[in-house]
Amino acid sequence: MAKRALLSVSDKRGIVKMARGLVDLGYEIISTGGTARKLREGGLEVIDVSQITRFPEMMDGRVKTLHPAIHGGLLALRDNSGHMEQLEEQGIKPIDMVVVNLYPFAETISRPGVTLEEAIENIDIGGPSMIRSAAKNYCSVAVVTDPDDYDKILTELNENDGDLSLKTRQRLAVKAFRMTAEYDTTIFDYLQGRNERDKKETSKAKSSKEEADIVFPEVISLNYIKKQDLRYGENPHQRAVFYRETNLKEPSITTAEKLHGKELSFNNINDANGALELVKEFTDRPAAAVIKHANPCGMAVADTLEEAYRKAHAGDPLSAFGSIVALNREVSPEVAREIAGKDKFVEVVIAPDYMTEALEILKNRWKNVRLLRTGDLFINREKPGYDMKKVTGGLLVQERDLAIINEDDLKIVTEVKPTEGQLRDLLFAWKVVKHVKSNAIVMAKDEMVVGVGAGQMSRVDAMIIAGRKSEGRQEGGVVASDAFFPFPDAIEEAAARGIKAIIQPGGSIRDDQVIEAANDHKIAMVFTGRRHFRH
Ligand code: 5GP
Repeated sequence: MAKRALLSVSDKRGIVKMARGLVDLGYEIISTGGTARKLREGGLEVIDVSQITRFPEMMDGRVKTLHPAIHGGLLALRDNSGHMEQLEEQGIKPIDMVVVNLYPFAETISRPGVTLEEAIENIDIGGPSMIRSAAKNYCSVAVVTDPDDYDKILTELNENDGDLSLKTRQRLAVKAFRMTAEYDTTIFDYLQGRNERDKKETSKAKSSKEEADIVFPEVISLNYIKKQDLRYGENPHQRAVFYRETNLKEPSITTAEKLHGKELSFNNINDANGALELVKEFTDRPAAAVIKHANPCGMAVADTLEEAYRKAHAGDPLSAFGSIVALNREVSPEVAREIAGKDKFVEVVIAPDYMTEALEILKNRWKNVRLLRTGDLFINREKPGYDMKKVTGGLLVQERDLAIINEDDLKIVTEVKPTEGQLRDLLFAWKVVKHVKSNAIVMAKDEMVVGVGAGQMSRVDAMIIAGRKSEGRQEGGVVASDAFFPFPDAIEEAAARGIKAIIQPGGSIRDDQVIEAANDHKIAMVFTGRRHFRH
C-alpha cells in the first residue's frame, strides 16, 4: 500500500519541492484547500481532504481536517491489530506523515490595529490537532512542522527507502510539541493581556500612561527564546544560558550585535547591561559610563563623547582597569584612541555604532575585547517591559524603574539654595545613583562622577567610601543619595569633604535634623520625593 502524507501549510515556502520529493518516493499526497491548489499549480497530483473525510471544508476553513478519517489514520497504532481492524472496518487508510505549519497568529497580532476578531480567526485548530496526533504516534508517524527541515527530511527519506528512523521521528515529535506549546502560549498571553487591559479600562483606576501600559498576568508565561549558551554562569561551576525577551523591541544588551572579540560571559552581559542602561538615561548629551561588577565607577556627560569618556575614566582610573564601557553616541577614532590609551584595559565596549577607523583602533589594541553595537539607542521605547528578580521558589516582577525628574520636581529645603551649576550636577548625579546598588551615594562635580559608595548596609558607610574614592576632587561637589538619610551623620561626612549640595528623596522621621546639619554647614539640599532603591 502506498504511503500517505498529509500536507496542510500556511507558510507555503518549499512545499512544492517537498511534495515532489515525497511523490518521487511513492507517497500519495493529501492536502487542504490552499495547499492543494499550490501543489496542483506545481504539477502534482493531490487527494483533497474532503475526498477522505467525505465532508466539504466548512465554515471558512474552521473545519477542514477535524475528522476521524484523518485522526484515525494518524493515531492508529500500527502494531495493534484491533486498531488496524477498526481502520479497515471504517475504510480509513493510515497516514504516515503530516507536514503542517500553522495560521500565523504571532504575525497577525503584531500588526498595528489588529482586531480581536482577526486574531481569533488566526487561531489554528485543525493544524495543532494533526500535529499532536502525529506527534503522539511518532512510533509510526512523522510530523514535519518546520519548512527549514524539508531538505534534511527528504535526504533521510531518500537514503532510507522512503522511511525516517525512529530517532528522527522522535526528534520531530519533540520539536512539534514545543511548537504547539509556544503557539498556545502566544495565544494565552495575547488574550490574557487583552482581558487585563479591559479590566483596567473599566475600573478606570489608573490614569497615567506608564501605568496603563503594563499588565501583570495571573500566570506568567512570558516569551523568552534562547539567545545563546554561555560557557558558565556567575561562577565557573554554574552552567548558564542567555534568553531573549521576545516582546521587548527596545535596543538593549540583548539586541546588541557583537562585532569583535571573545564570547560574552554571563558577567560581561550583566555588566554591559548596567553600563548601557545608565548611558540610556542621557538622551540629549554625549555620555560615557565605566562599569565594574554592575556598578558605575566612572560616568560623565560632556559636549563631546571624547570628553565624556575622558572624564568618566578619570572618575576612578584604578577601578576602570578591566571595566565595561558604554557610550550613547557613535564612537569616533578620537574616542577609540582615548579608550585604547596606554595602561588601560577594557573587557567590553558597547555603543550605538563605530566609525570604521575607530573599530580598527580598538580591534588592534586588544584581540579579545568584545565590541558590541546596538544601533540607535533611543528608539522603540514605548513598551517598557518588566524588571524581574528571582527569589528561591518565586519571581518578583515590577515595572522597570524609568522614573525621571526635572528641576520643577525638586523641593529646596535648606536656607542655602543650589547654584545653577550645582543644580545641573545634582540632576546628573540623581540619574546616576539610580544605577548604583543600594545603599548608594554618588559624588559628582562638573557633570562627572568623582566617587561612588555602592551596596553598603549603612548609608553613612556609603558616604565615607564615596568620599574616600573622590579624595581631593570632591571639594565644591554634590552628593546624590538613592534613599533618605536616617541620621545626620552622613551629612557631617559630606560636609567634611567640602560637599556643597545634596539631592535625596527626603521622608525620614529625622529630616529636620538632617536639614539642620545641612544648614549648619551651608550645604544646599533638595528633596525629590522619590527614591531609587536597587538591590
Ligand atoms: P490551506 O492553505 O491549505 O487551505 O490551509 C492550511 C492551513 O490550515 C494550515 O495552517 C493548517 O494548520 C490549517 N488547518 C488544517 N486543518 C484545519 C482545520 O480543520 N481547522 C482549522 N482551523 N485549520 C486547519
